[in-house]
This record gives sequence, structure tokens and C-alpha cells, in this order.
Amino acid sequence: MSTRKGIDTQQAANLDFDEQRPPGAPGGFKPDAELPAASALGTFLKAPPPGTPPEVVEALTLMAGDPTDPLPPRLYFETVEQAPVAISITNAKANILYANAAFEALTGYSRDEVLGQNESILSSNATPESIYQQLWRTIQRKRSWTGTLVNRRKGGEDYLAELTISPVLDAGGRLRYFLGMHRDVTREHELSVALRQQKTRIETVLDAAPVVVVLLDTAGRIILDNQEYKKLLGDLRGREPLALLRSALQQQAGFDPLARAAAGEGFRDVEISIEVPGSASPRWFSCSGTAVNESDTSLSGYFIRGDAGDQRLLLLANDITGRRREIERAHLENLRARLAEQQLAQGMREALTAASYQLQVPLNMIRAASGMFKDGAGNPALFAEMLGQITQAGETALATLRAAMPTQVPEAGVNVNVNELLRHVLALETDNLLAAGIIVDWQPALVLPELSGHKNELRSLFKYLIDNALQALYEGGGGQRALRLATRALDDAVEVIVEDNGPGIAQAERLKVFEPFHIGWRNRRGRAGMGLALAQEIVNQHDGAIEIDPDYRDGCRVRVTLGHVRARD
Ligand code: FAD
Repeated sequence: MSTRKGIDTQQAANLDFDEQRPPGAPGGFKPDAELPAASALGTFLKAPPPGTPPEVVEALTLMAGDPTDPLPPRLYFETVEQAPVAISITNAKANILYANAAFEALTGYSRDEVLGQNESILSSNATPESIYQQLWRTIQRKRSWTGTLVNRRKGGEDYLAELTISPVLDAGGRLRYFLGMHRDVTREHELSVALRQQKTRIETVLDAAPVVVVLLDTAGRIILDNQEYKKLLGDLRGREPLALLRSALQQQAGFDPLARAAAGEGFRDVEISIEVPGSASPRWFSCSGTAVNESDTSLSGYFIRGDAGDQRLLLLANDITGRRREIERAHLENLRARLAEQQLAQGMREALTAASYQLQVPLNMIRAASGMFKDGAGNPALFAEMLGQITQAGETALATLRAAMPTQVPEAGVNVNVNELLRHVLALETDNLLAAGIIVDWQPALVLPELSGHKNELRSLFKYLIDNALQALYEGGGGQRALRLATRALDDAVEVIVEDNGPGIAQAERLKVFEPFHIGWRNRRGRAGMGLALAQEIVNQHDGAIEIDPDYRDGCRVRVTLGHVRARD
């Protein structure tokens, strides 16, 4: 009977294993007690080496079989022959005496080509010598060996072979044969390498991320963390960052991140602070959490499809301490400026009240003096004395006013971005603009050179102009109120346009409005008529010019140019 690849199984079954075949033993396997193979197999099967494929154990069990077994010996042979694992039987020097069909299929060699050859025909020379030495040391001690070798197929392609070699002893316990079983584990190896690479990649990305990343199980145990987390652990002098972040979220945001994750919910950008030992100020973090469902790796879940798996929490904490401090600093600065303004206004009010009270004295005297003259009772000596008193009282009032004049602290010139300053002033005016229903058309130049200038003064300049535009819009009455702000880069200056569609400024007034104490508003309350005069002064300090555009007819357009443009690097 002929089976695969033209090998006659009868012929194979009758292989003359070697010259040591017991005299009288028939060619072919017999379930006969005196056959060496049978007793050796019996020993082998008593304790099959770990890793022996079950189908081989089954095949050899059948082979060794019960002597009274009515099954024909050919069945044992066929079972090994058809086993899906590459099986070979060698003599004690590893010369191949038998190879099954799976061996042919895996190695690419036909049996004719390997019979009589050493198993080393499969070696790719990539397996270290020390592995072979260990293999041989083990099997020569009549013990099984299992390991992994790099084999080469007949076609020249390498594959990773997981090999088990079992010694086969004769009835006298002498080492006679070796049973080799191997399978191709290249794919498993590739997968595990790919998995390792993937893990390394993920770890590299996580470690490079400038945020704290930590993956937790439902019990709050850390499964994975990154360098930033370890750095935070150092900064906190060994106090576990996770415990601090978690309790900060519970106390400051009112929820437990783990409970959220267990419910399959996440959270985003929750800002919390934690105290750092030895530091006066806390560290601020913006925390986000994502619930991650991981498949159950236990065997009990093997057959369960769509298994719910375990909920994990991926916690990200971004250190925003710097940003927070910046906001707090700006807030404090703002508060300080407002307090200073309030103090200044209070001081001015007091000085003006005192001066106006003191001015009453010379005014009363002037009134009395003019009464005296009207009545014809003019006494030149008395009049001269009164004049002296009037002058003195007037000077006292003037001195009071002068003393109240705030001293101007010279501001250092810095690099100024005009767009940014305008945006700040607009932001300060937002409430007023919204309340008045004014539409703001903000058209900043996309690229604007920086100026070397005085920030606070320029901010005041823009505030005067925007306040004026707002007042004009209030006084303009009905219709759609619109304010347009635009910036433009000129050759060596920056241009700022502040435009409103209010009542506009009559031609005759266009220069007068820059004079001190000129007030053209209908509602003069709280107005000193100094805004545009001061604006003019600030513009002059910045080598610039300010004008009311004579060609603009739909309201008022103030055009400001500012010099001191910084040379580009
Ligand atoms: P070798 O010079 O043959 O051997 C390298 C080293 O192995 C030697 O320095 C020595 O320490 C030891 N060694 C080799 N032969 C013997 C011996 N007879 N007695 C004591 N020590 C010895 N190898 C594979 O590469 N792939 C296989 O799939 C494979 N399957 C095997 C299956 C069985 C059943 C057996 C018994 C051996 C198998 N071998 C296999 C091992 C193979 O026989 C060679 O030992 C190995 O391939 C190294 O061969 P080599 O020519 O490179 O070096």
C-alpha cells in the first residue's frame, strides 16, 4: 500500500532500525513484550516529558499498547505517521532512521533524502554551540530535552523549531534511539517580538510625554506609569502621587476617579492642587481620566465572547502650576493697579474738595471788594490789603492742588505688541460694550512688528480712544452702534484705527479736541476734557501722530501712528 510521497508504509514500518535489532525480531512494530521498542515506549509513556504533544503520546500509547490488544500493529505505525507534529527517530548518534509525513512537510526534505543523515542536516548554524552541548549532555544522561533551535528548510528558509528529544532505552536500560518531535514556532516568536516592540514603543511614547500618565486597576493598583509620574514621586519625596491626586479629586472636585472608571465614565480637564512638602506654594494639575476596558486573561473567560473584562482607569495629570501662578500674578497686579487707582481718585477728590473750599475765601473777598467799590466807599489802602489777602488765599488753594498732583513714575521702554495691548483694553471694556449692544469689528494686522514703547501709557492711550468712541456711540442715539478697531504695519510705524459710527466731530472742532479741558460732550459728568490732550502727549512720546480723519463722514475715525518700530533680527 502506498501513502504520501510514494513512501510505502509497509516498507517504512519494516525499517531495519539498525544492526542492533534483537535477533528474531520481525521487521515492523509488534505489540510484543520482548520487543525493545515496546518496553522502551512503555518507560517513555509512564512519564512523557513535559511538552510532548498529546497526539504523540496517544500514538505511542497505541504503539506500545497492550500485548493482548487485538488492534493490528500497523495502526500504531499509521498513527505516528499521520501525527501532525514532525517526528523522527534516530540512532544514538542522531542519524535519522525514520521521519514521518509532517517532518517531510515541515523541513521540505523527503524521507529518502534524510534517512541515514544526521539531524544536523536541519541546522542553520544560527543556533549557538552551547545549546547543542546542553542538548547532548541532557539526552546522553537519558533525560528528555526541550528547547528552541533555528532550523533551515531544504529550500534555505530558516524557521524556529521547538524540539523535544526523548531517549529510547532497550530492555537492559541502554540508550539505543532518540525520538525527536518538533514544530514550527516562528509565528509565535514573531508575534511575541512584535508585542515586545509594541510595548517598548508605547513605553517610549509615554515616557517622552510631558504629562503624568498612570494606568490603574479597579483596586487602584498601578499597572503602568511613566517617567513624569516617577519624577513627581521624587518631587513629593516618596509620597505616592496617585494617592494625593485621587484624594485631591475627591475633596476638590467631589468625585472618586476610580468609581467613575468602574462605571465606565471618564472626566476631562479637572483642575486640582496638591501640597508639596518643603514648598510654600502648591502644585496645580489639570486631570483627565478615561475608562479602559481590558479583556479578561483568565482561562475561565476563554470561551466567553464579548466578555465584559476589567475596567481600568487611565489617569493623565498635566502640571499647570506655571500657568496658574501666571494667572494669580496677573490677578494680583490687576488688583494692585485698581487699588492704586482708587487711592489716587480718593486723594484727588479730597484735594479738589479742599481746594474748592479754600477758593471760596478769595472769591468771597473779591465779591466784598467789588461791593465796596460799587458803593463808592473805595479806600485804596484797604483795597490793597484785601488784594494781598485774596492773593494769599488763592496761593494756598493752588498749593493744595499742586500737592495733590500725582508724581509720574517714569516707565521703562519694553517690547510692545500693539495687537495684544488693544486686545487687553477691549477685554476690559467687554461688559460696557455688551451692555450698550455695540458691535465690535476687530481687524488686527496678521503680522505686526513690535514697538519699543511704554506699555501702561499705550494702554491708557487706547483706553482714552475707546472710551471716547463708546461715549460717542451712547450720545449718537439709535441705530446700529458699531466700533471698528484695526491695526496695520507701515514702513517704520504701526497704524491704529479707532472708528465709531457716532455723531462725529465737526470740522471746526477737529484740532480743538486735542486742547486741554476742551469738552464737547453733551453729558459732561465725570469728564475733564483731558483724554485727547493726554493721548496726544503719549503719541508724541512714541514718535507718532494722532489725527481725526477729515475724510471720514460716517462718524469719527481716529488715526494713530506709532514709531519706535523694533528692527527685525
Ligand atoms: P556538531 O559538531 O554535530 O555538534 C555540536 C555540538 O553538539 C558538539 O560540539 C557536541 O558538544 C554536541 N554533539 C553533537 N553530536 C554529539 C554526539 N553524538 N554525542 C555527544 N555530543 C554531541 N539539531 C538541529 O540543529 N536541528 C534539529 O532539528 C535537530 N534535531 C535533532 C533530533 C534528535 C532526535 C537528535 C538526537 C538531535 C537533533 N539535533 C538537531 C542535533 C544534531 O544532531 C546536531 O548535534 C546539531 O545539529 C549540531 O550539529 P553541527 O554539525 O552544527 O555540530
